[in-house]
Amino acid sequence: MSPQVAPIGVLGGTFNPIHHGHLRSALELVERLELEHLRLIPCARPPHREAPDCSARQRAAMVELAVAGEPRLRCDRRELERAGLSYTVDTLASLRGELGGERPLCLVLGFDAVATLDSWHRWQALLDYAHLVIIARPGWALPQHGAVAEWLGRHRVTEPAELRQRPAGAVLTLALRPLAIASTDIRALLAEGRSPRFLLPEPVLDYIETHQLYRGTGNGA
Ligand code: ATP
Repeated sequence: MSPQVAPIGVLGGTFNPIHHGHLRSALELVERLELEHLRLIPCARPPHREAPDCSARQRAAMVELAVAGEPRLRCDRRELERAGLSYTVDTLASLRGELGGERPLCLVLGFDAVATLDSWHRWQALLDYAHLVIIARPGWALPQHGAVAEWLGRHRVTEPAELRQRPAGAVLTLALRPLAIASTDIRALLAEGRSPRFLLPEPVLDYIETHQLYRGTGNGA
């Protein structure tokens, strides 16, 4: 394989709604890891939480509005086109099928996601398809003991350059600028009739207002 093919980043989430915490991390990842681009992949049917109170299509539309004008960030709708629960391992397999076996792929996970990784479908197979890039999230820590901690330790690398040298299989922890923004808080503000302005892009807020999203009971899920 060519060791110098630029990696592609993958950031999955419910994006309910997308906010500046996601976007700032995504852009910093592109620059720090010298990614060709990073794909934000809205989850259609999350396996681990209740169905979000706005549709997958609406969440994807907001991701598209948020990344418009930044070609290094893209919205990838593949989970919307698949039936059943949206398992990340299936998404990575589908990306591999499309991109071929040589291109490095970097799956980005926040500390919060890593804390429950061993409940994910075929979680240990994630590294067959991609590297794992773990980013800090205010209020969360990485597991120190147990199966996930051991597995992370076995595959850990320390330099971003190592992610360019093979297509998958390494774990890198990266400190980015921490922005303490969560979609849960944005939904709560909207449900209380308060403004989440400046926590998320203006076009996303316009979309929320036009479609009257998150006005009801503020489903905290
Ligand atoms: P919710 O509050 O509904 O749980 P969220 O804000 O955590 O939503 P998700 O769509 O669940 O957003 O997050 C997708 C991914 O982005 C996860 O890997 C998560 O760790 C990461 N992420 C979310 N918010 C931030 C943030 N402020 N900074 C860095 N990463 C974030």
